[in-house]
Amino acid sequence: MTAAFILVINMVIAGIFAIAFGVVAATQRRARGAAWIASGYAMGILDVALEFLLPLQSDPTLVGIGIFLTYLLALTLCVIGIARHYGVTPPFRTLAAIWLLTLLAVPFLFTMPGPSMLRRILYQLPYVATQLLVGVVVLQSQRRQALDLLLVGLTALSALLYAVKPFIAATIGAASTPQSYIASTYAAISQSMGAVTLVALALVLLLVMMRDATAEMLVRSETDSLSGLLNRRGFDRHAERRIARALRTGTPTVMIAADLDHFKTINDRFGHAAGDGVIAHFADVLRESVSESAVVSRLGGEEFAVLITGADLSEGRRRAEAARTAFSAASLEDLGIDARVSASFGVAQVMPGDTLFDLSRRADTALYRAKAGGRNQVCVALHELPPSPTPLGVRAASGQRGR
Ligand code: GH3
Ligand code: MG
Ligand code: MG
Repeated sequence: MTAAFILVINMVIAGIFAIAFGVVAATQRRARGAAWIASGYAMGILDVALEFLLPLQSDPTLVGIGIFLTYLLALTLCVIGIARHYGVTPPFRTLAAIWLLTLLAVPFLFTMPGPSMLRRILYQLPYVATQLLVGVVVLQSQRRQALDLLLVGLTALSALLYAVKPFIAATIGAASTPQSYIASTYAAISQSMGAVTLVALALVLLLVMMRDATAEMLVRSETDSLSGLLNRRGFDRHAERRIARALRTGTPTVMIAADLDHFKTINDRFGHAAGDGVIAHFADVLRESVSESAVVSRLGGEEFAVLITGADLSEGRRRAEAARTAFSAASLEDLGIDARVSASFGVAQVMPGDTLFDLSRRADTALYRAKAGGRNQVCVALHELPPSPTPLGVRAASGQRGR
């Protein structure tokens, strides 16, 4: 009776999680594995239903095989779902091998007379293997946050529980016939262990999906859809962090502010859509002109900002100059624009005690000087250049004005 009661609870739990993962799958595009996991838990419901059919059978073989394979199918669907969620190719070959060996073992397993240790071990082996596979898949994904490691730990524990079941059965004595399984103490223990791992694994998986969905939403809320760069909100968050770290560690860091020249005229002459194309093209140029680790953003309209850590003022100016040259030399005929476009740049470096606001203001002031000096040029913030033996030569090379 106890085992039957726990079985009902397991059925309800499996049902609740099948619905929960189904809702996640239906409402979140990013949760690619949720539908697989939902069907895995749905298989769990079917599995428990078959357990209830078992005592009613005069020959329990067919339903017994059904229970054995339905549970393996449930675990298989979960492995595929977890792999999909983690962006790893599901281990189809290993799963196929497990299924092949399991199917080959079925005639042997279900015709062996009486309960034997070998049979019990063979019965649990596919479950041990599929649980271990979940851990392997998560580790393959290279994600190592606390929740991922917890998931690996839980699947290892779950595999261990399947592995010790034969020994528990041997110690406390299992049911003598499949039909009497449901009334046995072993069934109560086995099903309770199943319930605990079922709940723990499902909750951790839901937390993983929630964490990833939140992270995805944060990235989306900080990305500019036209250029694919960070928007102002993203720039502020990343830049503030980088500046704080730069001040702590004494890493040289520069900011480049950029604004397209006479952009209103481009819009007026060639249309707003062409203007959008120019903005996207400038974003590409900017991205290609700086290192991958740089924080590159479109602050709004045709204004951009870049923060480069590990670069001093001269390096910042070189990067800005590279972007300026590439952009002013670009042919935009693909966009229907038969005129030259250009951008102006201001460069400033992080000084002791700086905030993002201070740094931006100095970069903007330098940008303003670049505009005032005739546009299509790079200016560095005043008084920030280190003493140089040939300041005039440097100025000529960078197009710097106002010193
Ligand atoms: P300056 O050289 O002084 O910067 O001249 P400008 O014409 O670029 O002047 P300003 O920066 O004031 O003009 C920006 C223009 O950019 C105004 C606005 O119509 C246009 N703009 C802002 N956002 C977008 C956008 O998303 N797409 C397009 N196509 N145009 C935009
Ligand atoms: Mg402009
Ligand atoms: Mg502007």
